[in-house]
Amino acid sequence: MENVIIIGTGPAGYTAAIYTARADLKPLVLTGTQPGGQLTTTTEVENFPGFPEGITGPDLMVNMQQQAERFGARVEFAQIDSLVKEDDGTFTLNAGATTYQSKAVIICSGASARYLGLPGEDELVSGGHGLTACATCDGAFYRDVPVCVIGGGDSACEEAMFLTKFASKVYLIHRRDELRASKIMAQRLLDHEKVSPVWNATIKEYLTDDKGDIRALLLEDTQDGSTSELEVKGVFMAIGHTPNTAFLGDLVNLDDGGYILPEHGARTNVEGLYTAGDVSDQEYRQAITAAGAGCAAAIEVERWLAEQD
Ligand SMILES: Cc1cc2nc3c(=O)[nH]c(=O)nc-3n(C[C@H](O)[C@H](O)[C@H](O)COP(=O)(O)OP(=O)(O)OC[C@H]3O[C@@H](n4cnc5c(N)ncnc54)[C@H](O)[C@@H]3O)c2cc1C
Repeated sequence: MENVIIIGTGPAGYTAAIYTARADLKPLVLTGTQPGGQLTTTTEVENFPGFPEGITGPDLMVNMQQQAERFGARVEFAQIDSLVKEDDGTFTLNAGATTYQSKAVIICSGASARYLGLPGEDELVSGGHGLTACATCDGAFYRDVPVCVIGGGDSACEEAMFLTKFASKVYLIHRRDELRASKIMAQRLLDHEKVSPVWNATIKEYLTDDKGDIRALLLEDTQDGSTSELEVKGVFMAIGHTPNTAFLGDLVNLDDGGYILPEHGARTNVEGLYTAGDVSDQEYRQAITAAGAGCAAAIEVERWLAEQD
């Protein structure tokens, strides 16, 4: 019987691991299929405090893992298929043929940005070759060059507006001829001198230069099927995120989008079950907010376990 199992090894999971390990709870941390989480899919991280020169996403995550292990956290590769609350209040976690039991669980399973599923996307994202899903994170790398945002909702508009600070031109590519975003936000964006909508269009192919960096997009008109090239250096995907909560079944309260609804701070509606990071945050989606939430969840767990004893 573990004191606490942490599901996920992004910034939320490793921060929860550092705090629970330093509180002598000997946490078990389960990596899932993406050890290190979303930041392992990016190159430079310039907005995580403490690294004035920046740090690569994979290096940052290795540092966090080493810091957690230094205080006694155990990190194991396991992808949880289901989580059950037993009658005695403890939790059973199933990962294939392996079963874990714990008094408390912190869910830090993150959310995955949706991409289009076109060939080469993984390499374009992980190699820093011009495809990303986070304007706040990567916008500043695209100064004075043309970029585009894919999507038509509120977050696509927010991302596009943010990018106007840096890019020479921001194309908003949408497969319909009208945005789903709120009218005020859509109008404000479309009125911006740097923004041009590209209606009724989808990406058929990413066109790259000899270094593998995106140089243009091959677009297809959704109405007449004709194709055209659009010169851009950065492509910002804003077609939503999928929270990694399928393994929870109906154990925890989720919102309509499948994100965990925290009751108070890091607590969920289930006693002993806590949450932190992107899996319960649609708003900020940053490494530092995930890390902060992981810290809060760890402190909550420590207090709750002390009360139980
Ligand atoms: C391309 C890109 C660039 C980014 N750049 C920046 C940046 O520069 N600065 C910044 O602050 N933020 C950046 N972000 C956002 C940042 O990566 C996320 O906000 C942050 O990683 C969220 O941390 P998290 O701990 O909540 O979850 P994640 O990092 O999403 O990690 C989730 C973890 O849960 C595990 N998991 C999932 N399901 C299961 C399961 N069933 N069982 C066990 N484990 C499971 C996964 O394997 C993974 O280890 C970027 C995101 C992307 C996609």
